[in-house]
Amino acid sequence: MEDCIFCKIVAGEIPSRKRYEDEEMVIFEDIHPMKRIHLLAVPKEHFATIAELDEGRAALLGRIFLKLGKLAPTLGLGEGYRLVINQGEYAGQTVPHLHIHLLGGEPLDW
Ligand code: 5GP
Ligand code: ZN
Repeated sequence: MEDCIFCKIVAGEIPSRKRYEDEEMVIFEDIHPMKRIHLLAVPKEHFATIAELDEGRAALLGRIFLKLGKLAPTLGLGEGYRLVINQGEYAGQTVPHLHIHLLGGEPLDW
């Protein structure tokens, strides 16, 4: 997808601090961390929100959550963490390529 920041990060056209990568997802550090650890898990396929899920993308998201559960301790999130997906500008989404925020590294208030 042209002009998508996260597609460019996935393609390596914009530098990022990648923490994990496989054939269908990347995890990299958020450029403006809101917590001591703030990572973004991003499917390599471009779609904006969960409103655009189909069966294939739902299965992809399921695999991503499965991997996050296994990877969390290796990312410094073994004590616990928060997953956030902002859906649409109204909810604070600024990058229209679906991504999961992983927040942790410190105790989190609601
Ligand atoms: P959203 O507000 O869409 O849920 O989250 C987008 C996140 O992407 C923000 O937390 C923002 O700091 C992060 N972000 C935006 N541009 C870049 C970038 O070029 N590199 C990295 N690593 N993070 C970015
Ligand atoms: Zn994209």
